[in-house]
Amino acid sequence: MANDGTTFEFVGGARAGSGAHVLIVPLTSKPKPPMQSLSQVDAYCDDAVSELVDVGAIGKEVGHVSHTTRGGVYRRVVVVSLGSADALSAHKIRCAAACAAKWLIDERVKQAALWIDGLISHDVERPVSEWALGMTLAGFSFCEYKRPDNGRVEKVRVKVVSEDQTYVSAKMPQIREAVTLAQAVNYARRIAHQPANVINPSTLAGEARRMARQYKLKCSVLDAPQLKRMGMGGLLAVGRGAEHKPCLIRIDYRGAPRARPNTVLVGKAITFDTGGYSIKPSAGLESMKFDKCGGATVLGIIKAAAALKLPCNLVGLVAAAEDAVSQTAYRPGDILKMANGKTVEVISTDAEGRLILADALWYAQKYCKPTALIDFATLTGGVVTALGKTAAGLMSNDDALSADLGESSRRTHERLWRLPLWDDYRELIKGTDSDIRNSGKKRFAHPIVGGIFLKEFVDDKVPWAHLDIAGPATDDNEKEATGFGVRLIVDYLTRRLP
Ligand SMILES: [Zn+2]
Repeated sequence: MANDGTTFEFVGGARAGSGAHVLIVPLTSKPKPPMQSLSQVDAYCDDAVSELVDVGAIGKEVGHVSHTTRGGVYRRVVVVSLGSADALSAHKIRCAAACAAKWLIDERVKQAALWIDGLISHDVERPVSEWALGMTLAGFSFCEYKRPDNGRVEKVRVKVVSEDQTYVSAKMPQIREAVTLAQAVNYARRIAHQPANVINPSTLAGEARRMARQYKLKCSVLDAPQLKRMGMGGLLAVGRGAEHKPCLIRIDYRGAPRARPNTVLVGKAITFDTGGYSIKPSAGLESMKFDKCGGATVLGIIKAAAALKLPCNLVGLVAAAEDAVSQTAYRPGDILKMANGKTVEVISTDAEGRLILADALWYAQKYCKPTALIDFATLTGGVVTALGKTAAGLMSNDDALSADLGESSRRTHERLWRLPLWDDYRELIKGTDSDIRNSGKKRFAHPIVGGIFLKEFVDDKVPWAHLDIAGPATDDNEKEATGFGVRLIVDYLTRRLP
């Protein structure tokens, strides 16, 4: 798994006007950039930038691209709109960068110069890093199984240019960090995209082992007999019908002394979700390979932390199973005994994510000593009905953890919206012949029913957050994975560093 679409390599230390044929100039549309700030870049491109500005070519829309072939030493000068200056944000810079990246890819450009002075003066913490992040994310394309496109540029060299060379040198380490983070997001996306005939619970464990080896991390995999010994009736039942048996993958990242907080991340990885006997309709069924996005996000976060050498402690747990239809598959009406001793009546075999997460959450608390416990799951269609593709549902037993995640959500634009987990909802999962049931009575509050179910498996004293990422884990057409959650948690971890 190496093919990452188009990668952007950022290099510093060059003066404008050298080497590249294409000059990229990000600028705000309103107010119009002052002439003196443009005169420096104009000097290299025969006034092409101010001419584009004069004819009103900078669109109001963020990411609007206008270009001219008349540019002095450059064959093409490309102005990318950042929208109006007073509304500029890190998110808008990333969006504009993504548009610039797509343009470069479409035009098959191999080398470009990026004039960053249009980014500098604004009220965004790390504008140039955000730009590099946006470009690297936009370069992602899942083309591993396509015949090679010989014209496609695999690597674009981007020369970072500015009047102020010391500024460029100072920014280069941050740019490299941003690229490393984006590559970890793209890694999560690439895992999510793998089809179910390639990624099953065992091959996913193999991928986790490979990644762990790369960074010299400890990785262990509990296989089905071990899960049985530990009594993980939920994870075992869900994966029982598939050829490749379920497993629980664990990776430990130790970047800080033992006494430091230990964040435990739990991901749902249903490598394919047929729905089981509560079978799903056939339309869109192919997108059910994306039911492992939660697990992919956890692996992406661990990779990011390891590559960035974050001084923090993490445990990543990925509960992996395939929800198949077969004569050995679990059935509606089955009563399962979970690892924590509670019994669950299966109402729907399609509400399988909470069954595997419940056992993984139990394991996390028993063996990993979490100071914070965060799970990621494409858990319910209901959360997409409620919040669309825009936001993940956040459910938590801890206001401080929720607030911290909320702040990271604001900073990264990976949106979260908190939903309640009041005890009133518990009534919906009360069992008849069992302690609880895995699906609510009537069609009420599906995302919350998922959360309230998981809450049954979490100690009140452990700060826990459940992120139902069923919406934003994929794009609007459910054709492309986004790696949602990686940037969010890396921001959360980074802000908590000593
Ligand atoms: Zn399902």
